[in-house]
Amino acid sequence: MGRNNFSIIINEENIINNYNYIKDLSKKEIISVIKSNAYSHGTKESIIALSKAGCKYFAVAREEEVMEILNLGLDLKNITILVLETLSNLNLLKEHDNVEMVINSIEELEEFIDLKLDFSKLHLKLDFGFGRNGIYSSQIIKARELIVNNNLFFKGITTHMFDSTSEEIKSIQMNFLKTIEFLGNNRFSMIHSENSATTLTNGHLGPTHVRCGISLLGLLDPGINNSNIKRSWRLLGSVYHIRNVENLSYIGYENIKNLNFDGYKFVAKLKIGYGDGFSKSNTNIICHINNKPFKIVHVSMDTTFVAIDETVSIGDIVEIYKDMDYSNEYLNMPHYEYITLINKRIERKLLKNPNF
Ligand SMILES: *Cc1c(COP(=O)(O)O)cnc(C)c1O
Repeated sequence: MGRNNFSIIINEENIINNYNYIKDLSKKEIISVIKSNAYSHGTKESIIALSKAGCKYFAVAREEEVMEILNLGLDLKNITILVLETLSNLNLLKEHDNVEMVINSIEELEEFIDLKLDFSKLHLKLDFGFGRNGIYSSQIIKARELIVNNNLFFKGITTHMFDSTSEEIKSIQMNFLKTIEFLGNNRFSMIHSENSATTLTNGHLGPTHVRCGISLLGLLDPGINNSNIKRSWRLLGSVYHIRNVENLSYIGYENIKNLNFDGYKFVAKLKIGYGDGFSKSNTNIICHINNKPFKIVHVSMDTTFVAIDETVSIGDIVEIYKDMDYSNEYLNMPHYEYITLINKRIERKLLKNPNF
């Protein structure tokens, strides 16, 4: 680890708390969605924390993500990984007992019947208007024909809820359950449809599993309040250099006259930049040094510059995105979007109880 590097501290205790809370609330088994580096929380770190909480089922979006998990060197004996998008290498299903996949269209259903795939590892996806993936309502009769004629028994059946009113969600859920009955209840051993927002606000209408991501990791969708969900992600580092602004004419390639120092005389350098996924859009956002707010004045590829006063010293602790409500508004972006931008050049550190 380089000196004064930034890292993302992941709070294991809070992730376990969130898992237990959602399990108690939903009274269902949980499929933990850990796509996109577990929404920036680290794939490996999140699997370790959620496994300790008792999770045995994980979901990712992409083939690349399941490959990453298989190569982590973790003991995956009791763990199943569901891939939500269709694999291009279908052999992965044969080679790995614990890899499962979603069937995302009627054409794929036909193709996988022809290929004689093992349907006990496949989940059938239905689309009730989300428009991303799945078999449409108009294709259900054809799907039933294929299922009955080939006597197919699946691991699961799924749909995706989208942002809408609770009335709409209830009606989709009823429609989903009626369609499962039409296709044959006994043909699916798992039923799952609810993401975090639906689980926290409307859920518990029938399925065997909930399929949550963001809430397990401690963040809530905009508009949802729930003090039982505890944040588990903090971006921390320290000051590695301080310069007197009066002696500088340039910071990076930027003429210092173009930057907004608000009368501050010093600049602190931080080892984070857009090369880490910390975009230039963060220019002029507030960060915290020793818990005191200071403004970021410039972001370059490897370095970020903060306007500071004489109270700050080299080695002082810096926190970025400490206040997410403020940051969401400043960046005009939800937290799950800008934290997911922070790439793997910033190390994730899983700590048992980091006291936040
Ligand atoms: C991302 C995703 C989820 C998890 O959603 P959260 O809002 O993070 O809980 C569930 N299901 C599917 C299909 C997804 O793509």
